[in-house]
Amino acid sequence: MSAKRVWLLDSGSLVIDRTHIAWNIEPGSPVRFPVYSVLIEHSDGLFLFDSGFDKGTVEEFLPFELPEQTDEQTLPAQLEKCGFATSDVTAVINSHLHFDHCGGQRNLAEAVTWVGKEELRHCLVPEPFERLGYADKVFHRPDSAYRWLEGEEVDFADGIRLLFTPGHTVGHYSLLLERDGRRPMLFVADVTYTRETWEKELISGFHNDPTANVASVRKVKHLARRVDAEVFFTHDMQEWESYKHAPDHY
Ligand SMILES: [Zn+2]
Repeated sequence: MSAKRVWLLDSGSLVIDRTHIAWNIEPGSPVRFPVYSVLIEHSDGLFLFDSGFDKGTVEEFLPFELPEQTDEQTLPAQLEKCGFATSDVTAVINSHLHFDHCGGQRNLAEAVTWVGKEELRHCLVPEPFERLGYADKVFHRPDSAYRWLEGEEVDFADGIRLLFTPGHTVGHYSLLLERDGRRPMLFVADVTYTRETWEKELISGFHNDPTANVASVRKVKHLARRVDAEVFFTHDMQEWESYKHAPDHY
């Protein structure tokens, strides 16, 4: 059986300069952007793709990103809106380990974490320019259980396919959800941030390998055309406002 219900869990918003959204192309000015995670109810378990940011961590390490997160936008509160407790989450799949994609995991001590093998290795010893991105060390806990994602495509569960899309980070994966009788849903994660940058094939200013990142943008665009996927953008406020938010579901 494939995924039954899919929710988008609001994690609040952050601010970065526009030059970081459309790297080396667009002029600068502050942009507030959304952060969210994807909850998947599946016959094999309750899965979470990314987990949002932790407000306290951002206030400590990146206060200039002006985090906004109400009590209602914390991961436990978002799960509760959908009728679940934190202990119901079977596994978290991390697209990558930047702080705004793994912060909620401090609430999920019982869930197994699936993440790119190189990602986990790399975030422990990042390049100097990547240190702030990997500011949240929540992934590095003695009680955390990890499973590796390796290879170009991983069939995680029936209808849940993960695609290796490096460049933004070394071990980045995107998510394709295929469900009976519906258009596939493609969550590109941080391959590119907005519909506009997707269309122009621009990458963000946060990357490990810009050329590999552009290749990953083209790879997911090709896939989206091939399977006629509905594409969900990770950090696009206008798009986010048009999506269904938990407790509404897809
Ligand atoms: Zn990122």
